[in-house]
Order: sequence, then C-alpha cells, then structure tokens
Amino acid sequence: MSRYRIARCPRCGRFLSIDYRYRTRRCPYCGRRITTEDVVDGNLYSAEVVSLKVRRLNERVFKK
Ligand SMILES: [Zn+2]
Repeated sequence: MSRYRIARCPRCGRFLSIDYRYRTRRCPYCGRRITTEDVVDGNLYSAEVVSLKVRRLNERVFKK
C-alpha cells in the first residue's frame, strides 16, 4: 500500500513521512504540528520505501 508522502518540519528541518489519509501529524523530533502544506514530495510511497527515503534525507541534512 503506497500511502505516505514526505514532509519537512518547518521548525527543526527534519524530514518525516505523513500518511495521506491524515491532514496533520506531530513532528516526532520537536512536537510541531505538520500539515499537508509541509509536504515536500507529493508522490505516494509504501511504508518501507518512505522510511528509507526519509532516513536518507535526514542523513544528508544532519551529517554527523
Ligand atoms: Zn520538528
């Protein structure tokens, strides 16, 4: 089931998945409310693919 989009938190800058069935979710890192306006990739992905993409994006932004 492909039903996740990629959003970016406007407060902490981290990427996260957002289920297309829900209009909002809370950022798991800073608690800010994420809405569909924060979606940066409108494609729909499966849970497996979206978690991989989100991890790669966050690794790129938050290099250790
Ligand atoms: Zn955040």
